[in-house]
Amino acid sequence: MVTAPGDETAAAAVRDVFGQLEAAFRPRTVLLASPRSFCAGVDRAIEIVERVLADRGSPVYVRKQIVHNIHVVRSLERRGAVFVDDLDEVPAGATLVFSAHGVSPEVREHADARRLDVIDATCPLVTKVHAEARRFAQHGDTVVFIGHAGHEETEGTLGEAPDSMVLVESVADVAALSVPDPDRVSYLTQTTLAVDETAGIVSALTERFPALRAPRSEDICYATTNRQEALRAVAAASDLVLVVGSVNSSNSQRLVELSTRQGTTAQLIDDASEIDPAHLREAAVVGLTAGASAPPELVEEVVDVLAGLGAVTVKEREVTRENVHFALPRAVGAR
Ligand code: SF4
Repeated sequence: MVTAPGDETAAAAVRDVFGQLEAAFRPRTVLLASPRSFCAGVDRAIEIVERVLADRGSPVYVRKQIVHNIHVVRSLERRGAVFVDDLDEVPAGATLVFSAHGVSPEVREHADARRLDVIDATCPLVTKVHAEARRFAQHGDTVVFIGHAGHEETEGTLGEAPDSMVLVESVADVAALSVPDPDRVSYLTQTTLAVDETAGIVSALTERFPALRAPRSEDICYATTNRQEALRAVAAASDLVLVVGSVNSSNSQRLVELSTRQGTTAQLIDDASEIDPAHLREAAVVGLTAGASAPPELVEEVVDVLAGLGAVTVKEREVTRENVHFALPRAVGAR
């Protein structure tokens, strides 16, 4: 039989994959971080779209990804949700759901102008930050928003008071800040930031503006804080950390960074198919968590795949128990 050069390349690639899988085969412990996976805001947002689909039928338009997870988005698409980036893609009068990350007043006005039937799935904890932005701005403050440029939550919150708000992403940005009145400065944060990094930026702000006003309660939400604390407990005892979550999920990215800062290699995976076998070779203890937008069944699948690569002992490290639920909007209220 004659073998074409392309066949040899493909065969070598397959041999390489099998070789890596063979090397990854070993007994191991999986340390499950708890809490992990869906938070109350994500649960609520998904339930809103599901209920609207059940009550009104498809299509149901959703502005942006309802939550930042590709599996959630694909699953809702299969059931009739249509995700759009621009409101002009939505037919006049149609039902439109705003995502969990919130929108600016400008987007709300655009939706009103298009006579869209809006159902708001913004997480109540994001809505709280929007209200704080309006309050501080009405007070005459320059409102420093600590967040990530381009993230939908950042864009929505900055839109509450565009003339009074300024974005900072780092301590270096704080040093470069110029404000009209250093005695009238307040700060707010994105809900999904790294707790430790944000503390450093807040102290830099306090140093520059001693009269700095803080939000009434912490803006980094309970789910973000809990998932970071749980991962901290797990990463220190792990050779490798796997974070289930999508690349555009801010809180999932923060978990990867947190593990890396602690000295434990971390891989962000959308699902078990993305596990890099090369990482598993030396990993006798694998820490496993999931961002707040990643479905819990994906974590179970990862455990199943690891169990296919040798005996697995699963241990859960629970740092706290969550019992948070948010009411649904009246338009899709409890049946
Ligand atoms: S991560 Fe926090 S702010 Fe974001 S949806 Fe979940 S509970 Fe709400």
